[in-house]
Amino acid sequence: MQTSKFKLGLTGGIGSGKTQVANLLGGWGASVIDTDLIAHSLTAPGGRAIDPIRQAFGADVIEPSGALNRARMRELVFTDPARRVELEAILHPLIADTVRQEAELAQGLYIVFVVPLLVESGRWRQKIDRLCVVDCDQGTQIQRVQARSGIELATIQNILAAQATREQRLAVADDVIDNSARVSMADLEKQVLVLHQGWCNLA
Ligand code: ATP
Repeated sequence: MQTSKFKLGLTGGIGSGKTQVANLLGGWGASVIDTDLIAHSLTAPGGRAIDPIRQAFGADVIEPSGALNRARMRELVFTDPARRVELEAILHPLIADTVRQEAELAQGLYIVFVVPLLVESGRWRQKIDRLCVVDCDQGTQIQRVQARSGIELATIQNILAAQATREQRLAVADDVIDNSARVSMADLEKQVLVLHQGWCNLA
């Protein structure tokens, strides 16, 4: 990545609150680059990943609108690790390409890369200056994901099992945001503001 701006990596398990935190940082002037959003746009109708996914997985995983059928793909890849590797081989280079383009155009105070699997992926650490983990216990993650969407408990558990553990993430974090059940949105905002001020000083 060519940019000289300060680069923060933001990660955390499913439903931990990454988007919530990224939205606050974006509102205060950081440039947010969210790999999940990029993956969504690549798999929206006409997205660059649609044709290669159709070729590898068949027309069954593409909706009539031309978008990826996310529910079907989620079930496929979280029950069969080989299929997950196959999907990642298609998506990762396209995501990396888009991330590079967005980082070069970023005008904010600093860049925040929101990467759900940052700890799991060896390639990310060298691209960032500092790593912030949104920390949350599993019970709260499950509750939040269920409240947000109709994903089945078994699917959430498969996703949790495929992700790094809380301990693995905390072991490599430079900064930690506590977003457990007892943390209100207002408390979350206070914690994030203190960290944001520190990152602005580093930027
Ligand atoms: P995913 O990895 O699944 O995209 P995420 O880490 O981006 O999830 P969010 O989408 O930010 O997580 O949060 C998950 C859900 O929990 C959202 O509906 C969000 O509004 C809610 N949430 C997050 N933090 C809190 C909090 N402190 N109090 C109450 N609800 C919260």
